[in-house]
Amino acid sequence: MSYELCKKVRDLTPYDPLQGNYDLRLDANESYLSLSDELKVKAAAIASEAALNRYPDPYAEELCAAFGDYYGIDPKLVTAGNGSDELIGLIVGALLQKGEKIANLTPDFSMYRFYGEIYENPVVQIPKGEDFSIDPQTVIDEVKRQKVKLLIFSNPCNPTSVGLEAKDVRKIVRGVDALVVLDEAYMDFWDQSLLSEVSDYDNLIILKTCSKAIGMAALRVGFAVANENITKALKAVKSPYNVNAISQAIAARVLRDKVFLRECEGKIIASAKNLKNGVNELAARYPVLERVYVSCTNFVYIKTAAAQEIYQKLLQKSIAVRCFGGYLRISTDSIDNNQLLFTALEEILPKFH
Ligand SMILES: *Cc1c(COP(=O)(O)O)cnc(C)c1O
Repeated sequence: MSYELCKKVRDLTPYDPLQGNYDLRLDANESYLSLSDELKVKAAAIASEAALNRYPDPYAEELCAAFGDYYGIDPKLVTAGNGSDELIGLIVGALLQKGEKIANLTPDFSMYRFYGEIYENPVVQIPKGEDFSIDPQTVIDEVKRQKVKLLIFSNPCNPTSVGLEAKDVRKIVRGVDALVVLDEAYMDFWDQSLLSEVSDYDNLIILKTCSKAIGMAALRVGFAVANENITKALKAVKSPYNVNAISQAIAARVLRDKVFLRECEGKIIASAKNLKNGVNELAARYPVLERVYVSCTNFVYIKTAAAQEIYQKLLQKSIAVRCFGGYLRISTDSIDNNQLLFTALEEILPKFH
C-alpha cells in the first residue's frame, strides 16, 4: 500500500492559538464579559432539556429568527454557521468554480487566504495603503483587471482595527462584477454597516458572528446574510446539521435578551475607548510604539519594531496579547484590567530607550 498526502496539505500545521492560563487574555478579541447570572441559569436549563438523541434543526430557524430580530433583518436572508469561520470556508469552497480567483485586501484576517489556498482558488493580494486605508477605486480596478470572482474583506478590519465608511463599501460592491463577502465581525463597535441594505445587491454576503460583541465564542455561532437567491445556495451547500442543538438554543435565547446585549456592547465600547486613550498616551511618551492606528473595534493595533520583545515581556507578566511581526494587537478588557496592561507597559517600555 502506498499513500502520500497531496502537496497542498503535506506541510500544513494545525492552527496553534496561544493556550494556557494567563491573568489577562487580550489576544483573541473576544468579549471580556460573561453571561448575566439570569442567562447562565437559563442556558443551563436549555442544555439539560435538550433532546440530545435527536438531530438539531438543520436551518436553525429559531436562532435565525432571534438574530434577524436583534439586527432588524428578515430571517429569510440568514444562514447560520458553526462560527463564521465555517461559512468563510463554505463560501470559498462551494460558491466558486475550481481555479476562480479570490481577492484579499492585505493585511486582513488570515483565514480568507487559507481557505482560498485549500480549495485551490488563486488568491490575489491587493495591498492597503500605508495607513491601512482602502482606496475603493484601486480595489475596483484590480478586481476587474485580474478577473477576480470573489472579493472578501473584514470591515472594520481584523487585525488593523481600521474601518472603511459605508459609502466606500457601497462603491466597491456596486463597482465590481464579483461576489463580495463583507465580514462585519466587529461592526457592533462601529456604525457603518450595510446589513440593512443587503437585499439591494445581487452580489453581497455579510458575515456576522456571536464570538465578539455577543460574547459567545465558545458556542461557535456565526451568520451569513444575503439576498434570497444567495441564501438558498448557501443552505443547499452547507452540511445539514452544522450548528449543534445546544448552541442554537442558547444563542437564540441570549440574542432575545436585547437589553443585556446592548448593555454589554456599551460597556465594551467604553472600555475600548479607555484602551485606545491609554495606549495613545503611552505611544506619545514612548516612541518605540511608532504608531497606533485609528481603531473602530474592541482592540488596538500598534506598529513597533519591538513587537516580539514586548509580547514576550507581557507574557512573563501573565498578559497575553497577539504579535504579528512588527505589530501588536491588543483586545480590550474591563477598564480595571486595562489599567493592569498600562501598568505592565509602563514597566516594559522604558527599556527601549
Ligand atoms: C473573530 C473573527 C471572526 C469570527 O469567527 P467565528 O468563527 O465566528 O468565531 C470572523 N471574522 C473575523 C475578521 C474575525 O476577527
